[in-house]
Formats: sequence, structure tokens, C-alpha cells
Amino acid sequence: MPIRIPVEGHLVTVVVATEAVEEYTVRVGRESRVQHRRVTQRRDVPPRLDEAGVRSALTYSNAVLAPADVVFSLASCVPHREEIPSGQDRVDLAGFHFLAARYPSAGGVSLLVVADFQRTDLGGEAIEAQSVCIVASLGDPGTGKVLAHELGHLLDLAHVAQGSPRANWNLMYPAYRAGDELTSGQIARARGSRLARRFAGG
Ligand SMILES: [Zn+2]
Repeated sequence: MPIRIPVEGHLVTVVVATEAVEEYTVRVGRESRVQHRRVTQRRDVPPRLDEAGVRSALTYSNAVLAPADVVFSLASCVPHREEIPSGQDRVDLAGFHFLAARYPSAGGVSLLVVADFQRTDLGGEAIEAQSVCIVASLGDPGTGKVLAHELGHLLDLAHVAQGSPRANWNLMYPAYRAGDELTSGQIARARGSRLARRFAGG
């Protein structure tokens, strides 16, 4: 029996607010005067990935994680609009932590999808202790490759050391990789992870 882990998908449209100065004219008696005021302009940065795209990325990830007999299944997929404090188009680590607090895992894994993310870890990032990860939409199969790696982190897998045998074919290689291999040690570790044990036999 595979270990089934529910995924709560959050498709986050990032609302970027910028301050601008607007000119306007007022009449004072017979004169008209130009005055200035500060205005906040808001612009949407949608995640460029819909539910079908999330499912396709999960299908890719599940094929990669199949040797561990772990299956991530989409339990929900909800669009949101969020203004991130001092946020830009590209979500940074502080923005990730803000979103992780807004959309914590309810009963499985919380998957945050945004248009662009500061690339500290391939194009995604994961917080194992909170079962939350974020990925940027990179198209097919790019998103799936990043998602599989981040789900690997949620299954307690660390990066493989650069230069170790077949390192750059391994799922947990910390850069773009040639393959998605898992070692027998990684398979055992993933199955014994806190997240997998929570759903084993359930
Ligand atoms: Zn990583």
C-alpha cells in the first residue's frame, strides 16, 4: 500500500503595491493650481499555473517518488490574492514565511504556487517542520522537477553532496540536475520521515 499524503494547493496571485505621485488641479478663486498627492497603485502577479498545471506537476513528482511508494494527492486547490508586506513581483524568503503563516498545512502538505520566487533552492523552498513548500511556475516539466525536490525536503531528505557518486543525477542535487534518482538510503529515510509516518497505514 502506498503512503498517501494529501496536498493543499494554494495558487497565490501576488498583489504588488507601488507608491506614485499624482498631479491634480484645484481651483482657488480664479486661479487653478497644480497639486500633488501620493497614491498607491496595485498590480496583480498571477501564478501562471492552474489546477491542471498543479496536477501535472504532482504527476511528475509522484513518478519520481514512486520508488519510496509515497503518493501525494491533491486534496484542494484554491486561488488567493495576497499583498505581501514590502513585496515585489518576485516573492522572497520573508514573503514565503508570510505566506506559510497565512496558509499553514491543515491536514497534509501546504503547497504555495507563485509566479516567481527568489531562487535559493532551484526555484522553490521547503520548511520540513511546518510541511509547507513554495514553488514558482516554471512550465512543464520544470515545475514538476522543482516540486519533486521540495517534496523530497518535506520527506526529510537533505541535499546530496556535490561530487558524491551520481550526485547530479540525484533528486536532491542542489542545482539543476540530469536525473531524478533516489538512493536506497534516501528511500528508507523518506519512508521513515515524520510526514510519511503520519500517513502510513491511514
Ligand atoms: Zn533543496
